[in-house]
Amino acid sequence: MPGMSASHQSFHVAVVGGGLVGKTAALALTQAGLRVALLAQPTAPRPADAVFDARIYALSSSSQTLLERLRVWQALDHSRLSPVYDMRVWGDAHAELHFSAFQASVAQLAWIVESSLIEQSLDAALRFQPNLTWIDTRAQGLDVKPDAAVLGLANGQVIEADLVVGADGAHSWVRAQIGSKVERRDYRQTGVVANFKAAKPHGETAYQWFKDGEIIALLPLPDGHVSLVWSARTEHASELIALDPAQLAAAVEKVTQGQLGALECVTPAQGFPLALQTVDRLVAPRVALVGDAAHLIHPLAGQGMNLGLRDAAALVDVIAKKEPFRDLGDPVLLRRYERSRREDIGALMIATDGLQRLFSLPGTVARAVRDTGMALVGAQPLIKRWLVSAALG
Ligand SMILES: Cc1cc2nc3c(=O)[nH]c(=O)nc-3n(C[C@H](O)[C@H](O)[C@H](O)COP(=O)(O)OP(=O)(O)OC[C@H]3O[C@@H](n4cnc5c(N)ncnc54)[C@H](O)[C@@H]3O)c2cc1C
Repeated sequence: MPGMSASHQSFHVAVVGGGLVGKTAALALTQAGLRVALLAQPTAPRPADAVFDARIYALSSSSQTLLERLRVWQALDHSRLSPVYDMRVWGDAHAELHFSAFQASVAQLAWIVESSLIEQSLDAALRFQPNLTWIDTRAQGLDVKPDAAVLGLANGQVIEADLVVGADGAHSWVRAQIGSKVERRDYRQTGVVANFKAAKPHGETAYQWFKDGEIIALLPLPDGHVSLVWSARTEHASELIALDPAQLAAAVEKVTQGQLGALECVTPAQGFPLALQTVDRLVAPRVALVGDAAHLIHPLAGQGMNLGLRDAAALVDVIAKKEPFRDLGDPVLLRRYERSRREDIGALMIATDGLQRLFSLPGTVARAVRDTGMALVGAQPLIKRWLVSAALG
C-alpha cells in the first residue's frame, strides 16, 4: 500500500508524460481518489502576441464528455472555442461530400479547441488536487518488482507506484522499458499547421480537400479565423514552411480555390512529421500505455487526441470497477483495459490509413474510383450517418 517507505515516496499511480492525455489521465485518477504522481514539465506560457495557438484540435463528443466529467470543459474560455456544424469534403476529381450536425441529429460534429486552452484549464484543476504530486522531471529508470514499480527520475529522486501509466508520446520511453514492439510506417508527409483570418465567413464549417495525394483541411476558429492542417509530402511541406506569411496565405488560397476568400496568416507555419505506429502490447505487469505512446495515426480525421482521451477514460473505468482484492498493477486488470481499447484503436487505424492510401494512389483510374466512391457515399444517407457517428466518437 502506498505511504512513505524508508527511502522512496510512493503512490498508487505514476503518470509519465504531461501532454494533454497524461494530464487528463492524472486528473481523472486523482479525482477517483488515488494518490498520483505526474512527471511532467510545466506548461510553456503562450506567447503574449499569439492570436491563436499553433496546435489546434478537433475534439469529439467523447472528449467533451470526459473533460466535462472532470470539470475542465466548464472552465474553458468558451469565446475561444468554435463548434463545427457542417463538414464539406472534396475529392481530387469532382465529387463532394457534405456532412451536417442537423442531419446527424447532434448538437455539433466537433469542437475546435486550442491546445493551450485545455492545458491551462487542466493545470489549474491539477493544482487543486491534494492527492496529486507534480514532479517536474523526466523518468529515466524503471524496475518492475512484484510489489511495486520503481521509477528513477532525472532529478535523482526515486519513487514507487502500484501502476505506471506511460503517456509519454509517440517515442515513448515507458513503452521501450516494457519491450512492447512498435511497427512504424512513415507517411513521408508533414502536417503543416498555421492559422489565418479569412475574408469570407466559414459558417462553422470544416473544409477538407484531397488533392494529388495531399490533404488540406481548414477548421473554423472564432472571429472569422481558420486553422490549416496541410498533410503535404515532406519536400513540399519544407517549401510551404519556408514561405513568408503572405506567400503561404496565397498558396492556401490557391489550393482551396478561394473557398474562404482572401486569407491573412496570423500564426506562422509549423510542421509535424506524420507516421502510422502500431504497438503490440498496451500493457505489461504494473504498466499501461495511453495516447500516442499506444498508437499513432494520420491526422486526416482529427482523431489522435480523441483516441488518447478515450484510453484515459477506459483505464480509469477499469480501475473503478476492479475487485477489491486486485492491486492496480494486476495483469488481469490491465488486460481488461487493453481489450477494451483494441477495437476503437484498430478501427481508426484502418480507416485513417485506408483513406490516406486510397487518396495517395496516382493515376486517372484511381481518381475515377475515388470519385465514384465518394458519389456513392454521398447518395447513401445511412452510410453517411454511420461515418458521422464513427467520427463523433
Ligand atoms: C498536424 C496534426 C494535427 C492533429 N490534429 C488533431 C485533431 O484535430 N484532433 C485530435 O484528436 N488529434 C489530433 N492530432 C493528434 C494529437 O496531436 C496527438 O494524438 C496528441 O497530441 C497525443 O497526445 P499525448 O499526450 O499522447 O502525447 P504528447 O502530446 O506527445 O505528450 C507526451 C509528453 O510526454 C513527455 N515525455 C516524453 N518522455 C518522457 C519521460 N521519459 N519522462 C517524462 N515525460 C516524458 C513529453 O515531453 C510530452 O510532454 C493531430 C496531430 C498532428 C500531428
